[in-house]
Amino acid sequence: MTQRTALVTGGTGGIGTAIIRYLARQGHRVATNYRDQAKAEAMKAMMAQEGIEVLLVPGDVKDPDSCEAMVRIIEGALGPVEILVNNAGITRDTTFHKMTYPQWMEVVNTNLNACFNVTRPVIESMRTRKWGRIVQISSINGQKGQYGQANYAAAKAGMHGFTISLAQENAKFGITVNTVSPGYVGTDMVMAVPEEVREKIIAQIPVGRLGKPEEIAHAVAFLTGEEAAWITGANLSINGGHYMGW
Ligand code: NDP
Repeated sequence: MTQRTALVTGGTGGIGTAIIRYLARQGHRVATNYRDQAKAEAMKAMMAQEGIEVLLVPGDVKDPDSCEAMVRIIEGALGPVEILVNNAGITRDTTFHKMTYPQWMEVVNTNLNACFNVTRPVIESMRTRKWGRIVQISSINGQKGQYGQANYAAAKAGMHGFTISLAQENAKFGITVNTVSPGYVGTDMVMAVPEEVREKIIAQIPVGRLGKPEEIAHAVAFLTGEEAAWITGANLSINGGHYMGW
């Protein structure tokens, strides 16, 4: 199979690490960003034990200049980015009438504006080379809304609007653009939710449990594969049946 260069943002987190593992096992060259040196070194060491070499580059997805610099370093080391997974994300939950402007902006910048910041420096080379795979990691809560998450739900829904526009603009260039919308997955993000709230969430999931990061990674590996060339502008819900809408 063709080996590609893949950039997965937020690769030091639960879902991002699983995606990197899947793409690396498919033979791709993998890179991610980090903000915390110690976390990056721990992740690199863990991957090395599994025989996976990851290029870790400093980068804050909220900052366009930082993203441009990160992409250029990756290109220099591994070649042009051919697979991009916009995965980095955060939550800052509170009901809207109590939400501060910084809480709104941090979430919109990290989840949605990051899609501009990271995709913009890679899109030209994908168009020139006539091959690319871009996947946004959105969320079930961008589909159905969520009490206390007006910032996050707005940003995550916006990511799919980005996907379907980019898919239209780039289909002729061999570039597919899709969204994956996970339900609740047992990573740090969800384990930070109080246990009694988590139990209530699990009770709403027909499959009866939280998702596993690998279950998201498996779908990303599928969508970024050579054979997925006719899937573009799609949104893949992976949520144990928690939400069965679009
Ligand atoms: P984690 O909190 O485990 O990981 C988040 C990752 O994003 C970390 O590597 C973090 O790095 C990185 N990150 C956050 N802010 C920035 C930034 N400004 N610049 C660069 N990197 C940043 O979360 P998950 O793995 O659970 O989530 C991954 C994605 O999946 C997110 O987009 C999330 O919204 C989405 N998702 C998760 C669900 C879940 O149930 N877990 C459900 C639905 C969607 P750092 O260590 O530097 O903060």
